[in-house]
Amino acid sequence: MEKYKLIVIGGGAAGLMAAISASEEWPGNVAILEGNSRCGTKILMSGGSRCNVTNESVRPENFFGGSRNFIKNVLREFSDRDALEFFRRLGVQLKLEPGGKYFPQDDSAASILNALQKKAAELRVKIHLSAKVESIEFNGTAFMLATRNQRFEAERIILTTGGRSYPTTGSDGTGYGLAKKLGHTVKPLFPALTPILLDDPKLTGIPGITIPARLTLFLDEKKLIEHENSLLITHFGISGPAALNISREVARLQGGNLKLKLNFIPLYSEESLRSLLKNQIRLNSEKSVLNFFREMLPVNLCGVLFGLAEVSPEKKFYSLSKEETGSLVRVFTAYELKFTGLKGFSQAEVTAGGVPLEEVRYQTMESRIQKGLYLAGEILDADGFIGGYNFQWAWSTGFIAGRAAAQIEYK
Ligand SMILES: Cc1cc2nc3c(=O)[nH]c(=O)nc-3n(C[C@H](O)[C@H](O)[C@H](O)COP(=O)(O)OP(=O)(O)OC[C@H]3O[C@@H](n4cnc5c(N)ncnc54)[C@H](O)[C@@H]3O)c2cc1C
Repeated sequence: MEKYKLIVIGGGAAGLMAAISASEEWPGNVAILEGNSRCGTKILMSGGSRCNVTNESVRPENFFGGSRNFIKNVLREFSDRDALEFFRRLGVQLKLEPGGKYFPQDDSAASILNALQKKAAELRVKIHLSAKVESIEFNGTAFMLATRNQRFEAERIILTTGGRSYPTTGSDGTGYGLAKKLGHTVKPLFPALTPILLDDPKLTGIPGITIPARLTLFLDEKKLIEHENSLLITHFGISGPAALNISREVARLQGGNLKLKLNFIPLYSEESLRSLLKNQIRLNSEKSVLNFFREMLPVNLCGVLFGLAEVSPEKKFYSLSKEETGSLVRVFTAYELKFTGLKGFSQAEVTAGGVPLEEVRYQTMESRIQKGLYLAGEILDADGFIGGYNFQWAWSTGFIAGRAAAQIEYK
């Protein structure tokens, strides 16, 4: 039986941060039990292997899930500025990209993981790999943990087992069961930031096109939410930030009377495009309608959209009827997507739902249910948009949990 003052369960973003912040107080007394054969697999695959570490402006409004007030307090305790300073001190150079996203200067997610692991090693964090925790029991004074072939004891534990998306990375959702065993509840889990599946062969027949676009979700004909960002057409549907960001609400409301509309040229609304086309009919009557649209969108996409609008691409403005104008306006700015579902957990960047924030104290991330138990990262009921927000949540909650677990007086 190995004994530690503090054991962190899960060596992902939140777990590495928690172990580092605890070890700043308690060097040599902290261990990580990581189920996988390496730490930080999701860090390595994040942001297209570039790792979008955080954002220049992380606010509670960038998150869904539990209380925004809780999230605000957590972000105040360890902010995006603190994350930048933390990585600067670890020697990682970061650069700012459009959308306020921070990436490592060398575009390598490995730089983030290596820096975290180096710091953990300096602080003598003991990392046990291939040590998947199968059970945890509290015997009144200490936590008894068991992996398949080893037992551990700790005065305090931090649960940072992540969500259940991309389960092959090790984040397979077993942590929720451990939290439940220790008395916690778990809010319904569903995939967020996952691609959307379409039954729209004409559109999915031209995969690989990326455009700025606006997606709007309607429930019972009422507009619910919209996202304008880049959108990628794939062979199965749509992906890219606009689709991923809206997918969370599509997943949450699945089964309801949902409609998803796509504006391929978000610079224009239905009304403004209609009046622009009317002007063209008046001023540029000899111009080809296709040439007009191909100034804004790739020509093969225009071809597909003309097909969907049932308008011949040969048309000149003078011969465009009122019905054809209406049809083009609808397809280019308010095309109703024939969506059939979502890629789901197998390809979701994050899991929505989890341990309710009310069951944790924001000042320390300590459980209100089990003394000595702390929770951090994606296992909690908070999930953010694309843009570095999910890692910021892992850094902030991991930092708070580690510091608090080590600061509280040890008997
Ligand atoms: C493809 C992809 C790209 C992403 N890109 C970005 C991005 O660029 N920016 C961003 O902000 N977010 C991104 N995310 C989201 C981000 O990776 C997660 O929000 C973040 O990793 C959550 O950190 P965590 O430590 O809570 O969980 P994880 O990073 O999932 O770590 C949990 C760890 O716990 C281990 N574990 C699980 N169960 C057990 C157990 N029973 N015993 C022991 N160990 C266990 C797992 O093996 C894993 O190592 C991306 C996610 C994916 C999947």
